[in-house]
Amino acid sequence: MLRTYLIAVSNDKPANSLVQNLPEPNALFGCSKCEIAGETTPAKVYATPTKSAKIKTTYIRIFPTSTGRQPEMRSNARWYDISHATQNGIRFFINDHKLHTYGYLGECELCELAFIDRGSSFMSDTLHSVYHGAFKKLLHLWTESSKKQPWSLTKALPSIAGDLAKILYPTTTVRVPRTITKFLKLKANECRVLLLIGYPVFKNYLPELYYKHLQKLAFGISIGESSSISLEKVEEMELLLKSFVDDFPYNKRYIVQTVHCVKHFATTAKDFGPLSNYSTFNYESVIGCLSSSIHGTKRIGTELSINLELFTKAYYISKHHSLSSELEPFIEYVKTGKMHLNKQYPSSEFISTQELNSLYKFIPRESNIKLMKSVVRNGLVLSTFKSSKSSTFTNACIVYKYQNFTKYGIWYNRPMFSSCALWNPDATTFADQSTLGSYTHGIFIDIYNTLYAGSWGNSLVKVWPNGSSTATRTIQGGLSGPYSLFVAMNGDVYIDNGESNGQVDKWTLNATIGTRVMNINKACFGLFIDTNNTLYCSLADFNKVLKVDLTNVSGTPVMVAGNGSSGSTSSLLHSPWGIYVDTDFTLYVADAGNNRIQCFKFGELNGTTVAGATVPGTIPLSDPSGVVLDGNGYLFIMDTGHNRIVASSSAGF
Ligand SMILES: [Zn+2]
Repeated sequence: MLRTYLIAVSNDKPANSLVQNLPEPNALFGCSKCEIAGETTPAKVYATPTKSAKIKTTYIRIFPTSTGRQPEMRSNARWYDISHATQNGIRFFINDHKLHTYGYLGECELCELAFIDRGSSFMSDTLHSVYHGAFKKLLHLWTESSKKQPWSLTKALPSIAGDLAKILYPTTTVRVPRTITKFLKLKANECRVLLLIGYPVFKNYLPELYYKHLQKLAFGISIGESSSISLEKVEEMELLLKSFVDDFPYNKRYIVQTVHCVKHFATTAKDFGPLSNYSTFNYESVIGCLSSSIHGTKRIGTELSINLELFTKAYYISKHHSLSSELEPFIEYVKTGKMHLNKQYPSSEFISTQELNSLYKFIPRESNIKLMKSVVRNGLVLSTFKSSKSSTFTNACIVYKYQNFTKYGIWYNRPMFSSCALWNPDATTFADQSTLGSYTHGIFIDIYNTLYAGSWGNSLVKVWPNGSSTATRTIQGGLSGPYSLFVAMNGDVYIDNGESNGQVDKWTLNATIGTRVMNINKACFGLFIDTNNTLYCSLADFNKVLKVDLTNVSGTPVMVAGNGSSGSTSSLLHSPWGIYVDTDFTLYVADAGNNRIQCFKFGELNGTTVAGATVPGTIPLSDPSGVVLDGNGYLFIMDTGHNRIVASSSAGF
């Protein structure tokens, strides 16, 4: 058994306040690590020549380090002490007689977990606190302060840009900073590169006091960003970053929360190791993708869960099944919205032929699904094409109707194997006579790895969900000696019931009785449903393959291959067993009595032999009973008489 313990939390600052149950970061007692109160000061010093008129009465909170007694660090123990004290009538006041509880607003729900501490478990995050925080603050000061300030770099900007362009960045650099003159628009990862690698450039422009101060931040954070940190190094980091805050050379009015919290990085590094291990850099972009996939303002949770489900399915199928090379561009399109199909569709209606053509690049043309422009599901509008021009991300998915059910997502079951995949020659017994029944006949695995297998002797079919060795469903009752089964994409199970009852039955999910979908007068040794929703049955005893249109309830079986007489010419079959139909509706038949695999193109009654002793370069077969194609079009054959399974590859059999 795998146990998971939550030991720490890494968030941006506002989210942290919420989880930790503290005031917002810029409020009184807003620091997540220590109990510093902070003080307010007019924001006027922030004024720039263009903004000064507007800013007159705004106050901001700053967290300058005071001399004397230092604030306590937050912890579970402190919270217990303070909550007990307040319950016993003790009141805490700050200098201006305001009542407070050191910022603790009440219980923190995560702290009920065994390993979460109200102080140390809340980690310092480099993205928001340093690169987009303290360092960005310095960039603001250098570029937006009055030119009279000693630290102003406004005049030097062009030559700084020139110097920075000469720096050789490591090849691992994700994003080389764009021109420095656009300082304030730099992304967090650009700020990171600029601080950690580009900082020496400022030596020629900042007065020594300010350059040394910048070095403290760069050196301290560099230690934190190394892949392993010794205890000595942590102490060095602590000294550097503490001094960065405590000996802040700019006006103390610039020591806002993001500058103050730099002090606490060494503590987090000491507790949890290198900063990059838990920086929000690791998942910020994923969160960005997810949040931009939300278009509504109301059912955000539902929308998010539908999007997640959709992307999981689409991603899984694109990686594990055929057509994946075609599907990947579609998924890319869903992600980026780049395919010039950005028209607006106001309502649910069928897609025009022209639009359909562009989609058919990604799905089988002949499939019987009806693509919809959009549908409403759980109150949300899902559309096949993006519904809004304005967003770059889209909620597009393939929305289709199948047997009157509106479905979304992408389906297909034809596994793709790597050319270097090796099969383990030793099999594991998954089910046997005691767990399944005697004379096992018929097996199917769907795209979710649900396994279906039948027992002829016990007249039943069992179903095992992915990963489970215990069957969760047994289909029986009214079945007599089933030889074969097939599962449709909507989960309906089609089971041969021909030998005694002369029919093929459909079992819907949770059905306790099957419905007849095809009349036959002997057992189907093989069953298959093509992408056009046509059911095929191989009648071994009558040497032929029949099909029936499942969308037409009263449909009568039509002959596809073999004429009923046993024979070995191109149009005849001898005891056909397993069958397979590909997306071009080509039918493959394991022609057992002729020891060959026959292939019939759509609409043709003359087949060609694709495997067997008569076809040079293939392999001799004996009583082949099953045939399957993988996503690459290679054959897998159950070679019963030789007690083996054979497969073809680019090198033949
Ligand atoms: Zn603090």
